[in-house]
Amino acid sequence: MIPGARLILLGRQGAGKGTQCVRLSRHFVVPHISTGDMLRAAVREGTELGIMAKQVMDAGNLVGDDIMVGIVRERLSQTDAVGRGYILDGFPRTVGQAIALDEITSDLPIDVVIDLDVPRELVLARLSSRRVCRDCGTNYVASGHEKMPWICEVCGGDVMHRDDDTPEAIAHRLDLYEEQTAPLIEYYQAQGRLAVINGTSSPDDVFRRLTATVDARRRSS
Ligand code: ADP
Repeated sequence: MIPGARLILLGRQGAGKGTQCVRLSRHFVVPHISTGDMLRAAVREGTELGIMAKQVMDAGNLVGDDIMVGIVRERLSQTDAVGRGYILDGFPRTVGQAIALDEITSDLPIDVVIDLDVPRELVLARLSSRRVCRDCGTNYVASGHEKMPWICEVCGGDVMHRDDDTPEAIAHRLDLYEEQTAPLIEYYQAQGRLAVINGTSSPDDVFRRLTATVDARRRSS
């Protein structure tokens, strides 16, 4: 029986969280819970949340903590997450969200919080060629010569350029990351739950280090 896991991935936009979360989710057989993907699904479905979130997201701003905490609380209470665990991608993004998450997970605490570290200059270059499957969130790198529509090889969904991957929105999201999300690195370090992984090497190499880190944490706990 493959053991589950309860993980948080932190890291700048374009650090490779989406790519690594898809792999980690298959490896540990746990759901990949991406708040960005959940919000994009709400936008596509045209729900009340989606209509509100679209404007906020396209400007590169953050959706309010109360709304995000409510969405995550509900998702983590579902059977798959309670039984096997999850990989959280894009949440928490503020100290307020992290405090709420500590309360939500007080019975089944997070195993480890991973900071996937890639410097700002490098993520800017990666983001300009990023394309994302709107259905499963798989990330691709565009060469500019792809046939359109571009079909996701994982799930058959449409691979798109995200509406919020404009240079202005990217710069704003990276600024917000430094202001609002980077303080979480200290928050989790103080709790002794942080592991920093260098995300600049190949996806396979980063993945090996991620799984080794999770396994080592679990052996020592
Ligand atoms: P990125 O990491 O490139 O910013 P995401 O897919 O994680 O992309 O998020 C896209 C957008 O969704 C964010 O810019 C923000 O508007 C919104 N969002 C996602 N997660 C959160 C969150 N935890 N708190 C507030 N807003 C969020």
